[in-house]
Amino acid sequence: MNILVTGGAGYVGSHVVKELLETDQRVITVDNLNKGHREAVLGGEFYHCDLADYQELHKIFSRHEIEAVIHLAADSLVGESVETPHKYYQNNLAAGLNLLEVMLEFSVKKLVFSSTAAVYGEPRNIPIQESDPGEPTNPYGRSKLFYEKILGDYDRAYELKFISLRYFNAAGADTSGQIGEDHDPETHLIPLVLQTALGRRQQLEIYGTDYDTRDGTCIRDYIHITDLARAHILAVEDLEKRDESSIYNLGSGDGFSVREVIDTARKVTGREIPAVPAEKRPGDPPVLIASSEKIREELGWQRCYDDLETIITTAWKWHKNNPEGYRS
Ligand code: UDP
Repeated sequence: MNILVTGGAGYVGSHVVKELLETDQRVITVDNLNKGHREAVLGGEFYHCDLADYQELHKIFSRHEIEAVIHLAADSLVGESVETPHKYYQNNLAAGLNLLEVMLEFSVKKLVFSSTAAVYGEPRNIPIQESDPGEPTNPYGRSKLFYEKILGDYDRAYELKFISLRYFNAAGADTSGQIGEDHDPETHLIPLVLQTALGRRQQLEIYGTDYDTRDGTCIRDYIHITDLARAHILAVEDLEKRDESSIYNLGSGDGFSVREVIDTARKVTGREIPAVPAEKRPGDPPVLIASSEKIREELGWQRCYDDLETIITTAWKWHKNNPEGYRS
């Protein structure tokens, strides 16, 4: 099958592309390289293209007989989305609509979409289920929820079938050490902890230590990036087989506090990792844990990396060998 991956040069995308290349799928990656890294795309065809560029997208669809799309290209920083909502609605919604327009023109009616736990906002229940209400608290979460709604309308009107995967906290790196997490600026906990272990940062700031949790710090659900990537392949296969739209959470079902992450990283790295209490980050819910029962039951998805120590060990291998990310 010819599969188009948008945003394939990013952290999630590069792992999805690598997993796809290990099956017999033909992969065509599109990325504007604003945040992505060309070196992270380990094979297949590559196009340096923005999804807002209708003509170029059209050319790509004319050149390859695309049968399914995995749409990951998006901006994904919560804080930035609050400051510059236009950018988020432009890139995550308007450019995404362009993609849908071209897909319909070429009768491509299978789409896997990268959504987010941010669509839930402050959760009412833990673990969070897909049927829980979508009440995002920032433009990033809203842009993803709106796109899911648009996909629902396109299903009803044009029979475009989609699977939306609501990611919790993607973490770790492919065990080959070839690809990993490299954001600029880096905002995610595990890479920041490991950069501190490497001495590239003096200390880690713990955003809030008086939450109503077991040790006062926020609890999150960390899922290994390879497990997350494999879910996309199952999703494409399911669209082939069942031709039905669905929405799935993608998390581990386990929750770890910020302090537990730091302690585990100290154990993995054997380094001190100075950490200091700091102000809460606005809009951070105390606990986010997914129920991933639905994807397990319906797609047969299973985790291969099921403990935090292993997840951090794979991330450490990447960061130690590539302290400057892809520039190293
Ligand atoms: N966090 C922290 N210090 C940092 C970065 C993150 O204490 O320098 C906390 C953050 O408040 C959250 C957790 O670590 O509770 C995970 O944050 P991250 O940005 O990795 O993912 P998010 O849960 O926001 O998607």
